[in-house]
Amino acid sequence: MNESPKIYYFDNNATTRIAPEVADAMIPFLREYWGNPSSAYAFGAQVHKHVEAARENVAALINSDPKEVLFTSCGTESNNSAIHSALVTTGKRHVITTAVEHSANINFGEYLQKRGFEVTFLPVESDGALDLHRLEQAIRPDTAIVSIMYANNETGVIFPIEEVAALCRSRGVLCHTDAVQIPGKLKADVKQLAVDFLSLSAHKLHAPKGIGMLYVKRRTKYQPYVIGGHQERGRRGGTESVPNIIGFGRAAELAMTTLEDENTRVRALRDRLENHILRQIPNTIRNGAKEPRLPNTANIAFDFVEAEAVLMLLDQVGICASSGSACTTGSLDPSHVLSAMGVTPMRARGSVRFSLGIYNTDEEVDYLLKHLPPIIQKLRDISPLNPDHPDNDKYDIAGARAKHEQDLAIAKEQEVVSS
Ligand SMILES: *Cc1c(COP(=O)(O)O)cnc(C)c1O
Repeated sequence: MNESPKIYYFDNNATTRIAPEVADAMIPFLREYWGNPSSAYAFGAQVHKHVEAARENVAALINSDPKEVLFTSCGTESNNSAIHSALVTTGKRHVITTAVEHSANINFGEYLQKRGFEVTFLPVESDGALDLHRLEQAIRPDTAIVSIMYANNETGVIFPIEEVAALCRSRGVLCHTDAVQIPGKLKADVKQLAVDFLSLSAHKLHAPKGIGMLYVKRRTKYQPYVIGGHQERGRRGGTESVPNIIGFGRAAELAMTTLEDENTRVRALRDRLENHILRQIPNTIRNGAKEPRLPNTANIAFDFVEAEAVLMLLDQVGICASSGSACTTGSLDPSHVLSAMGVTPMRARGSVRFSLGIYNTDEEVDYLLKHLPPIIQKLRDISPLNPDHPDNDKYDIAGARAKHEQDLAIAKEQEVVSS
């Protein structure tokens, strides 16, 4: 690959840069210590010791016992595994989750529905908040598990997981939380949360992709999802991804030391970015509650523009950000998270997420704030959706806007038909 030019990275909720300390910790396990940790001889056994040390570090990050930590291939597998286990061990057939989960849960829920299970996708308020009363009403005698994310990856809105878990406990229902967005930003303590299951993914905390973990509370029954050898104390088959596990362990250690920076300096950068946009660019609005919210995330609707066009022009000047529909680029569907919050399709399609991290600087935010306003202006100048369009008096703008919505509806119908 060619030497890459400077990138301005504001997409830390999608993935994060591998910390140099993490890469350094992994290299010996790629080059020298490549033995199988399950082997009886010393060459393997010494690797096993390092895997267990990494497990201790990951366990410490959430205040759990290392025996409660099982390594998986990713956050998606962890989420799927928790729900699968609950369905098998309880024999019940109803799952509760929310309409704003990561696709790991949304699509698994839809899969379960097709297989004859019942899944409730709880709605959220217009600010993205969860109404615990609705959860209480949704729990039934045949509910196996409630799976609710700790913080939303698109808006940063934080859910009251401690209360969710208490409610589940009082009704005898298992509780899982997708805490993938938490490390380094918020302190997660499984003793305080008292959930049965919790998922993490290493690549969201400056470690490699392809490694995750599932916390399974002591004495909570567990049925493996990946069935094979007796790795992970019989809870997940497959030879351990040793270098990735080592990287995850080192990243967990680092995440505990960067909480402070994330909650002071990064939070201030995010606030400066958000306030500047909301004040300096007309017809903008924040999606989701201001608090409680992750300190690094800003999701902003730019009326009268398409987010995909904004992202393309930002990309031309080396800036990485995303729209809610990152996983469905090319699709006309607005973000399922913003839709569930009741954001209009037009506004949702003009929404951009900026997610910062510990490697962002003041200068990078300055650079973004220099380039963003002219990009929005340029797109609005050519947008038929813009009521302030200079040629407004020449054209039927309301008509054009209605036509635009109609075209999208038709295109969407065709999309549904063709898929
Ligand atoms: C990224 C993410 C996941 C998926 O993690 P992978 O390791 O990429 O499978 C799940 N949930 C949330 C909230 C995420 O942000």
